[in-house]
Amino acid sequence: MAENGSAAEQPTLWVAVIGAGPAGYYTAEALTKDADNVRVDIIDRLPTPFGLIRAGVAPDHQSIKNVSRRYEATNQRDNVRFVGNLSLGRDITLTELRDLYDVVVLATGAAKDRPLGIDGEDLPGVIGSAPFVGWYNAHPDYKDLSPDLRVASVTVVGNGNVAVDVARILAKTAGEMAGTDLAHHAADAIHGSPIKDIYVIGRRGPLDASFTPKELNELNQLENCVALTEAEHLPSEDIDDMMTGVQRKNVSALRQMAENDPTAKPVRLHILFFRRPMAVLGDECVCGLRLEETVVEEGACIGTGHTEVLPTGLVVPCIGYRTSPIPDVPYDERRGCFENEDGFIDHGLYCVGWAKRGPTGTIGTNKPDGIDVARKILSEVTPAGKPGRDGLEALVKERDLKIVTFQDWKKIEASEEALAQGSAPRRKITDIDEMVRIVES
Ligand code: NAP
Repeated sequence: MAENGSAAEQPTLWVAVIGAGPAGYYTAEALTKDADNVRVDIIDRLPTPFGLIRAGVAPDHQSIKNVSRRYEATNQRDNVRFVGNLSLGRDITLTELRDLYDVVVLATGAAKDRPLGIDGEDLPGVIGSAPFVGWYNAHPDYKDLSPDLRVASVTVVGNGNVAVDVARILAKTAGEMAGTDLAHHAADAIHGSPIKDIYVIGRRGPLDASFTPKELNELNQLENCVALTEAEHLPSEDIDDMMTGVQRKNVSALRQMAENDPTAKPVRLHILFFRRPMAVLGDECVCGLRLEETVVEEGACIGTGHTEVLPTGLVVPCIGYRTSPIPDVPYDERRGCFENEDGFIDHGLYCVGWAKRGPTGTIGTNKPDGIDVARKILSEVTPAGKPGRDGLEALVKERDLKIVTFQDWKKIEASEEALAQGSAPRRKITDIDEMVRIVES
């Protein structure tokens, strides 16, 4: 109980942040930066911290993953603690957490796919970006996904950065992926695959696409794969002055693709605009995707009635995510996140990141978001003498739960680094029991 009574005039404010991803860490950092009486436990259902940095950011974007050093520094503070392998819902209820802590912050991200809502969506060869990205990033939930990549053509639906990530990871050679932490099971399947054509489908046009120039340009620099698009769907140079900077740079990359020679490399990556998916075709597996041509009028995507069938063996919808609902927490069905007012859900219950604002923005967007929510918490909640960490520890002991501390995680990390081959930074462990064994060894 020592921490509870450290300053009689300043009782401890106990905060449980649920989710050890960027949103959770930035919130913990902001909560503890200047306030001496705040103690934060960052709780995650996985034994590994850093959320999307580890399991969402593409394995060939290692420089983006370096931001985890900042989260690590947050974890070095004695008022912040990582509590891994503790699952809200499975090991502890929200009511129990709210009884133990003054504040619970839901930083649970958006781990479910938005549905396409078309016929054939449930066929085995349709795999949404949440499981597909999780699979190639060695997320324990998807280690056994085993998508059948013995196909000649893959179709990625969506014009965001996740669609570009998925297309690029499928297109890169083993050599291009050598210095990455691509999951071994994914490397075997991708680099042994006969894929010759990768399609990226946008239901609107190049000016409406939400991918960004740096990511799009990477598709023009692939060793074994040539990026292509249809010149007739690109805007004329007459309107260059009316475009935003991002649009201009995207269009410039696309103009290059329209001029690329389709025979230049063995694999082709086609970006097709103004098509929307109507039905996935096939009986037991996918054999094609029916598309309808579209026009965009005043920003709305309208079908023309003209359809075509794209032969394809795998469809990966990358059309956005939804936060997983939690019993008794109000949910905004339209936005796919918790109902909240600037992060406030209920007395002592807040949300942050994608769970607060929906699945938009980069890793960096979570920093100001975390600062705002932390400020709101500090101005709205006063400590009520809750049990905090001692209470959680008693419950963990009573239930014989095997929680993982930050020091334990460093043991897992060291094992992953020791297993790495060649220039790979680590070989990720995908099995939670194995991680626990390493911690206990
Ligand atoms: P996103 O940027 O919102 O893109 C989703 C795409 O799916 C849009 O093109 C959207 O088209 C399309 N779409 C939605 N519903 C559809 C439907 N029913 N049929 C066909 N197309 C549909 O989402 P995201 O790619 O999942 O990315 C999420 C966030 O993470 C974004 O902020 C992104 O920038 C970020 N991110 C960043 C990086 C990076 O910086 N390297 C990497 C990955 C992700 P409409 O526009 O027509 O709705």
